[in-house]
Amino acid sequence: MATPDRAAPALKQDHAQASSAGFAPGIDHADPFRDAFEHAIVPMALIAPDGKYLRVNRALCELTGRPAEAFVGTSWQLVTHPVDIDVVLAHERAALDGGPPAFRAESRLVRRDGEVVWTVQSRVLTSDADGGPLYFVAQFEDITERKRMEAALRERERFSRDVLDSLVAPTAVLDADGTIVAVNRAWRRFGERGEADPGTTGPGANYLQVCERAGSVEALAAAEGIRAILGGNRDEFDMDYPCHPPGAEGWYSLRVTPLSGVDHGAVVCHIDISDRKRSETQLIEQAVVDPLTGLPNRRSFVERLTEAQAGPAGRDLAVLFLDLDRFKVVNDSLGHQSGDRLLAAVGARLQEAIRPTDLVARFAGDEFAVLCRGVRSEAESVAIAERLANAVSVPFSVDGDDVYVTASTGIALAAEGLSPEDLLRAADTAMYRAKRWARPHQVFDEAMRVRSAERLSMESALHRALERGEFRLHYQPAVSILDGSVVGVEALLRWDHPERGLVLPAEFIPVAEDSGLIVPIGRWVLEEACRQADRWQRFGRETWLSLNLSAHQLTAPGLVEEVEAALDTTSTDAARLHLEITESALMADTEGAARVIRSLKRLGVRVSIDDFGTGYSSLSHLKRLAVDTLKIDRSFVDGLGREPEDTAIVMAVLGMAQSLGLSVVAEGVETEEQLAALRDLGCTTAQGFLFARPQPPDSVGRLLAGRTA
Ligand code: C2E
Ligand code: MG
Ligand code: MG
Repeated sequence: MATPDRAAPALKQDHAQASSAGFAPGIDHADPFRDAFEHAIVPMALIAPDGKYLRVNRALCELTGRPAEAFVGTSWQLVTHPVDIDVVLAHERAALDGGPPAFRAESRLVRRDGEVVWTVQSRVLTSDADGGPLYFVAQFEDITERKRMEAALRERERFSRDVLDSLVAPTAVLDADGTIVAVNRAWRRFGERGEADPGTTGPGANYLQVCERAGSVEALAAAEGIRAILGGNRDEFDMDYPCHPPGAEGWYSLRVTPLSGVDHGAVVCHIDISDRKRSETQLIEQAVVDPLTGLPNRRSFVERLTEAQAGPAGRDLAVLFLDLDRFKVVNDSLGHQSGDRLLAAVGARLQEAIRPTDLVARFAGDEFAVLCRGVRSEAESVAIAERLANAVSVPFSVDGDDVYVTASTGIALAAEGLSPEDLLRAADTAMYRAKRWARPHQVFDEAMRVRSAERLSMESALHRALERGEFRLHYQPAVSILDGSVVGVEALLRWDHPERGLVLPAEFIPVAEDSGLIVPIGRWVLEEACRQADRWQRFGRETWLSLNLSAHQLTAPGLVEEVEAALDTTSTDAARLHLEITESALMADTEGAARVIRSLKRLGVRVSIDDFGTGYSSLSHLKRLAVDTLKIDRSFVDGLGREPEDTAIVMAVLGMAQSLGLSVVAEGVETEEQLAALRDLGCTTAQGFLFARPQPPDSVGRLLAGRTA
């Protein structure tokens, strides 16, 4: 049995002398392992602690193209690539200094012909019986081929990356599972610009999951498409989608193509098609035909109107503006597609009803305009309006149901100096009047022109009033008929006009409602009144505060949140806040109003129906809405004690309220006679000049302190 000592040729002290046989002198050349060493397939060497070769085998000579003699006695550093020397040297020193005796290191050997051979050398330091270092046994594994392949691979990857980066569209490569394996520069940049769907995701993320998490209709459709490609069920997937993140808004086309190869992945790219979309929209805008009805659109109507006005009979023209009544309700109940079919059918009827020389156009939604030539009088234009109304009054059959449609029509006759836009505006204003007065048609006249000019200036004045804080709240107490004590106050809006003094709401609220300004004004009322209520808190917890809401406020988004916030910030008790909604506002948008009222009630506030008796609310409706209070309109209180009819109505309201468990407030009580009648009928709460007029907060505060009006 060979001991390690014997297997490893004993080293003599004079090993530094080179020998012509390729072996260092002093080695036992008769060693039986010499052959094994010599003929081993693995290139090997014995290296002395000072780095000089003691012995090399044939395989190493072949690998390096150097004879054994060239090695022995020379340092390994002479045949090693200069760049790799330090690494090997460090390991070698560590082993000699008592560190790990074995190490592996990549190093390049330089052949005699100058070529470089890549190797991994594994070295082990052998030691003598005393633990002193003897020599290193080194084995070399030729990894030149592997290195070459790695370099080729790197080269190919660089090539692919360059190709990928050269693509303008953000592009990513997915593996078979949908995980991103590579993205290009455009993709990375896309991500830097915003929270863009494709951009925030880099290599390693699963793109299918990213899309699914995004959850939008487009993202889910994209995931579906990519899955079809990865599953081999499709050869191509294309989808246009809008993109909203800041800095990256626009339209993109998602294109997914399969990636052939070992692991069938996919290439995903997002091509910016915003320009194309823009020109498409432009084309639509430039179009002259409304795609839904096939009628001319607003643009071409205005063009034809301009031509007609410039023509010889330019003053014998009438513009009729038609707006379908309650179309929103029809549309909501039929569904949008049926609503569209109905609009198309209405368009066709109008087209049939006009004379060949006239023109009908669809503007937007349920608005139609008709240009009539040769009209010399108002009577003629009214006759046309009636003919059109008759045409649409015949029921339409939509999805097998008969649908009844009415329209409100505004008429404007061409006059000297009226531009096409002015003429249209006049017809629109007249239509608006027709709707407001519930008439089928209305002709624009001088009074309307004055009124609409006034409205315009009132609107801007209201804007200013809001900005400058010219609004005030006055408060009118509501008193108990039993003992005259103040049970609540109603906030009533006033405009402290710099020139005109206090302006009453009847004068400006309609304009504020029509212009939408009532929403910010109402917000101010809510906040201001709650602040005031907070200050009055100490006068008694039972006193409620009542606010008036208009129909617009009821349907504007955010009302419920605003009420909640006002209650929170002023620590006003929700149950002490009464919101008054007029009966007509309730009727205008039954469903929407009901929804908001339910949410308001959930906050704990009370809901009153104002001006009760002037609208047509049904008992069942009131019950469903769970309103708390009915305020009997002043017009019924007026005749109390005098007009038997009024007494009967008030009695009926009181009876009804009692059966529904509602409280009642009689509005506008001015005389002792009315008060006595109310007392007789069992009404417990009233408001009116008899008790107190609406007044500024200070005087109301004094009233509250005394508690009787
Ligand atoms: P309303 O809510 O029915 O308010 C009652 C109106 O009747 C008040 O008119 C009040 O001054 C008046 N009034 C009270 N007692 C008597 C009386 O004994 N005799 C007579 N002849 N009138 C009496 P005001 O303040 O001019 O308000 C008119 C309407 O304006 C209110 O009717 C309400 O619908 C609306 N309004 C007032 N403030 C606001 C507001 O802040 N927001 C909204 N949206 N509407 C408001
Ligand atoms: Mg009121
Ligand atoms: Mg009222």
